[in-house]
Amino acid sequence: MSATLGALATGAAVVGATLGGVSSPSQDLTSQGVDAIVGPAPLTAGGQRRRVVSRSTDRLAAESVVGTEDGRLQAAARARESALSRIEELVDRRAAYLRRHHWVLPFTGYRITATFGDTSSLWSTVHTGVDLAAPTGTVTGAVGAGVITYVGYDGAYGNKVVVTHADGTETWYGHLDTIAVGPGQEVVAGQQIGTVGATGNVTGPHLHLEVRPYGQDPVDPVPVLRERGVQL
Ligand SMILES: [Zn+2]
Repeated sequence: MSATLGALATGAAVVGATLGGVSSPSQDLTSQGVDAIVGPAPLTAGGQRRRVVSRSTDRLAAESVVGTEDGRLQAAARARESALSRIEELVDRRAAYLRRHHWVLPFTGYRITATFGDTSSLWSTVHTGVDLAAPTGTVTGAVGAGVITYVGYDGAYGNKVVVTHADGTETWYGHLDTIAVGPGQEVVAGQQIGTVGATGNVTGPHLHLEVRPYGQDPVDPVPVLRERGVQL
């Protein structure tokens, strides 16, 4: 009898290992028949192993304590792994979102020489953007990711580049000295689209930066940029 029990116990250890991955081993043990499976014998208070084969539910619960603990640890490890890979995925997605939507300054070291709504004999209407004075040749970056939808000379704007962003907002870059992009090209935030110049209707080198929501009438770029994390 004890030899049989020993074999059963060994078999149970194998089954226990196999079932280690399931969340509720006792359930699986039950469904596979108690007669064939005996869990590892628990130690009594005195350190003696009790070997009991029984169909009783209490006995089964006691026998499966070790397997349940094992399964719980493995389930926790799997849950942690799954949570980590989920977090990684969210971080990647967040980074991609920021690449698409986060805006940056076109360049630093500028001086604002005209703001939106200013009037001057230079402009036929009120000023439609913000002027950032900087030396000719200053590398000018797109404020955000988008697609180049206009490249060319445009009257008072001089050499102009238009970037259309994912939400339909257009940013216009006027008076450029040189243009570094072509129509249809995709750009990321900060990517060079040209250099500061004094082409078009100007009195000195500067970037005329204009923001047009959905390609409609221009709005003050300052609050739009601020909403996207950029302080002009
Ligand atoms: Zn201007």
